[in-house]
Amino acid sequence: MPNGYNGKILQVDLSNMKMKVEEPDEVFYRTYLGGGGIASYYLLKGLKPGIDPFSPDNVLVFASSVISGVPIAGMTRYTVAAKSPLTGGFGEAEAGGFWGPELKSAGFDALVITGKAAKPSYLWIHEGKVELRSAEKAWGLESGPAQEKIREEVKEKRARVAIIGPAGEKLVRFACVVNELKHANGRTGMGAVMGSKNLKAIAVRGNNKPEVKDVEKFLDLAKSLTEQINTHGPNKVLRKMGTANLVMALNTQGILPTRNFHAGVFEGAEKISGEKMTETILRAEEGCYACAVRCKRAVEVAEGPYATTPLYGGPEYETLGSLGSLLCIDDLAAIAKGNELCNRYTLDTISAGVAIGFAMECYENGILTKEDTEGVEFRFGNADAMIKGLEWIAFRKNRLGDLLAEGVKIAAEKIGKGSGKYALHIKGQELPMHDPRGKTGQGLSFALSPTGADHVEAPHDTPFAAPGPMLGRIAPLGLLEAVPTRDLGPKKVRNYTYLQFVWSLYNSLGVCNFVAGPVWALPLNKLVDVVSAITGWETSLWELLKAGERTVTMARVFNLREGFGRKDDTLPDRLFEPLESGPLQGKGIDRQEFQEALTLYYEAMGWDPKDGVPTAGKLAELNLSWLDEYLKDKR
Ligand code: SF4
Repeated sequence: MPNGYNGKILQVDLSNMKMKVEEPDEVFYRTYLGGGGIASYYLLKGLKPGIDPFSPDNVLVFASSVISGVPIAGMTRYTVAAKSPLTGGFGEAEAGGFWGPELKSAGFDALVITGKAAKPSYLWIHEGKVELRSAEKAWGLESGPAQEKIREEVKEKRARVAIIGPAGEKLVRFACVVNELKHANGRTGMGAVMGSKNLKAIAVRGNNKPEVKDVEKFLDLAKSLTEQINTHGPNKVLRKMGTANLVMALNTQGILPTRNFHAGVFEGAEKISGEKMTETILRAEEGCYACAVRCKRAVEVAEGPYATTPLYGGPEYETLGSLGSLLCIDDLAAIAKGNELCNRYTLDTISAGVAIGFAMECYENGILTKEDTEGVEFRFGNADAMIKGLEWIAFRKNRLGDLLAEGVKIAAEKIGKGSGKYALHIKGQELPMHDPRGKTGQGLSFALSPTGADHVEAPHDTPFAAPGPMLGRIAPLGLLEAVPTRDLGPKKVRNYTYLQFVWSLYNSLGVCNFVAGPVWALPLNKLVDVVSAITGWETSLWELLKAGERTVTMARVFNLREGFGRKDDTLPDRLFEPLESGPLQGKGIDRQEFQEALTLYYEAMGWDPKDGVPTAGKLAELNLSWLDEYLKDKR
């Protein structure tokens, strides 16, 4: 029996109800670790390039990791991956909560799902057993009532359920998956892939926690991490205000996305801030499995048009941006309601907000009219329009809802009339709530992310822009000098290249970005000790970061196979244009500097500078020569 993991990956073919348990060896687990690593492996091996993401041929992976599921803060996340219906490329989204650890306790490290069930179904995985059950009573229901129904049916109140609501069933291209109704695998439309497979949910329950190799060392590490969290400044802020603390911080820096990225300062920021939420509608601080940070919020609006229940959690920073400042909405109750609706319907709050922002800008420029909006004034600042828009999208209710449910890229192509300039996406995925004009490393991150615009590909630039303790946190990587936020030269490229390996490693290990270094309580080198204590492997930061690089490279090859290349590693025009107000007024990203940085990055990665194709030598170095066959016509 391995330590830290079960050594079992469950394969389910929904078309013919066949199931098989694979038992890969230690070399496999040590090479791919879990999460994004294991998911990339199965997508590359099992999925033919060019397939329709909604076809039964798509491969849907749920992957925990070699260390997840034992009681230590922040090691709880799991990945859902498939070919993305939003981008047509590599799709991946991680979530915290409780589902990942429970999957491990139920006996499996990952699930690889193919085919399509004949009727709406759900998987019930418990104590090593697996059943495919009819979901006819839950189909059509929002996430909350559907979860209740499934828990009743399996007679297990404590079953953890990863589930989709109406948006997933209606194949909204940015539908997400939620567990506990509030922890979302948000991005790239993984909920729609579940919907296309007639898979309403996966309920898991088990009592067999993974074995830990060195129990004493592990308990020491877990205890000292909790102590560090309790005294670490940034983690204390996170516990007090959740990620919502970023609203005021980014507004002050002039990079709070406002009016569909025209501006970086929102005059209503205080009204939707973490401070305001804590004072007014906050009902509980919550957390993920075994985590001492407890950065999650549950909010309640007792009455009024935007009455909101705490059952569906509360808005994170991204949601306060996407349903708030981006749309010039300063009504916190409306944003809380929007967040609740997204979790009920299982919509990604980021893409949903950007889709509504796109429609508002089209409306203000006469491209959409009242005929398209059921008479609603679809203008920036109109909270009712935002709420209506979410419903239209989730149920594909009218022509506009049906268009926006396709994501802004396809919607703009269908609408035409020059609307493309209002569609803020990269590779088809809508921009997160961070403005790269004030942190250019995020520009590289957005452009190069295999999933399209994504803010969790690498740490953001700000903590490493000036000398100070934060810089010391990345010193183990040899990153010793401060690099200004708007610098886009070789030092920024180097920072980004190394730091993305760290974030990629976290995605594979299921480590939360708000617990482990560079910024948070657990320093980089301590993570090595944690992995070692749990698995018994004599590992190193070198080995683990190579695993991070391996996953970045596999996702790149997946996208190259699908026809992506350098032309797709770009930013929307708006980010090259100057910000209209605030401390960064007049600043945009320099196109030439951006292209030069891209070339440097490809070269630093061992990829050809023409299209970012990894060389045979680089693949060999990463033990990925099995990918050479996919790149024959690219070199
Ligand atoms: S820091 Fe927050 S998001 Fe991360 S594991 Fe802890 S509670 Fe969950």
